[in-house]
Amino acid sequence: MHLFQYRDGKLHCEDVDLACVAEKFGTPLYVYSAGTILDHYTRLDAALAPLDHLIWYAVKANSNRAILKLLADADAGFDIVSGGELFRVLRAGGDPAKCTFAGVGKSREEIEFACEQGVYSFNVESESELEQIDQIAGEKNLRAPIALRANPDVDPHTHEYISTGSRENKFGIALGQLLAVYEGAAKMRNIEIVGVQMHIGSQITEAEPFASAIRKTTPLVRELKSKYGIKFFSIGGGMGIIYRRALESGSGKWWHDHGGESSAFSIRDYADAIVPPLRDLGIRILVEPGRFLVGSAGVLLTRVRYIKQTAEKKFAIVDAGMNDLIRPALYHSYHEIAPVKEPSKSPNLEKIDIVGPVCESGDFFALDREMPEVHEGDLLAIMSAGAYGFVMASNYNSRPSPAEALVHGDKVSLIRERQTWEDLVRGEVEPL
Ligand SMILES: *Cc1c(COP(=O)(O)O)cnc(C)c1O
Repeated sequence: MHLFQYRDGKLHCEDVDLACVAEKFGTPLYVYSAGTILDHYTRLDAALAPLDHLIWYAVKANSNRAILKLLADADAGFDIVSGGELFRVLRAGGDPAKCTFAGVGKSREEIEFACEQGVYSFNVESESELEQIDQIAGEKNLRAPIALRANPDVDPHTHEYISTGSRENKFGIALGQLLAVYEGAAKMRNIEIVGVQMHIGSQITEAEPFASAIRKTTPLVRELKSKYGIKFFSIGGGMGIIYRRALESGSGKWWHDHGGESSAFSIRDYADAIVPPLRDLGIRILVEPGRFLVGSAGVLLTRVRYIKQTAEKKFAIVDAGMNDLIRPALYHSYHEIAPVKEPSKSPNLEKIDIVGPVCESGDFFALDREMPEVHEGDLLAIMSAGAYGFVMASNYNSRPSPAEALVHGDKVSLIRERQTWEDLVRGEVEPL
């Protein structure tokens, strides 16, 4: 479910008119719906009720402090991939004891910081990393809690850049080698074995790869439980969402809610696939959803600057660019684009490219998209931009990063100021 709907001919986020938000804070602007995020969290929590489970939000999907605070208040923990993310969680009032620290290349400084703060677990991806954590924990007279990341070698049927659980990926340790690495870990004085973890990829739109990865890993989980008394099995995140919504011809809705379910397969499907093989393990299950919680809870608002008609094509040049939302350029991903002013019941359709101002031909949001006629000055909402949107923004072309706003009911708050040109040169230093 998400809470972006037309009301009285105007696209709303919850009870707030998006045109007013754009007036107030300018464009390009990310707008997030707190109600949508909480709804996703609550429904996942309910679906996993048969398991002793914890939901730990993958911070990298959207790390704005206001979002972290919202989820911390809802009792979520956090899956972090850097010292910077841990710092953010702490600033948002999150509990380090409810954080797992993932990632293949943790630095000494990051490991020290996470040790001092007392994270729940380091999710370790190699023997070298394990040795490094053992050494650093020793220097601090601590025992570092660890889980090894298993690579179950399954094909999650997703974009190659976001597949992580096949043996060709840099992630995790092959199932066949895992026990030996655990044996090594058990001999390290400053390491405490607390769990096992996996994460097979992102934007996975079927339940089977999750179930298959679990089936492949459970024998090992049982063995680790009896040998080392591990207390958790983290099955990672990766649940996909619907980016492409069928056009409803003649309804005037260019983007349309699909039965209230914004996961590509339903939460039910997911739970039905994973709960049975996990229930009998008698161990705490962690899930680490990122995109699923926040993806469809955000839009990128952008205004059309110019219409340009060439011999070949018609372009709408908007004020957002690939530096603001890189997903189409990076993954060729599809985002619905909805006019903020609702089109008439039977609009004239035309094919148009929606492109940004950045000097790259990869700077597009939609190619040959069938849309109701677009005009200069129109406000457009690029849908499902709540995950891997702002967090991947850059200052390429010296474009200040966009602002972010959070809607809750009829309230809207600015949660990040738009950068200024001054911000762009801050930190630059004259050479000697
Ligand atoms: C990125 C990541 C996640 C979240 O992935 P989503 O597809 O956003 O759910 C979870 N766990 C780990 C270890 C990750 O790296």
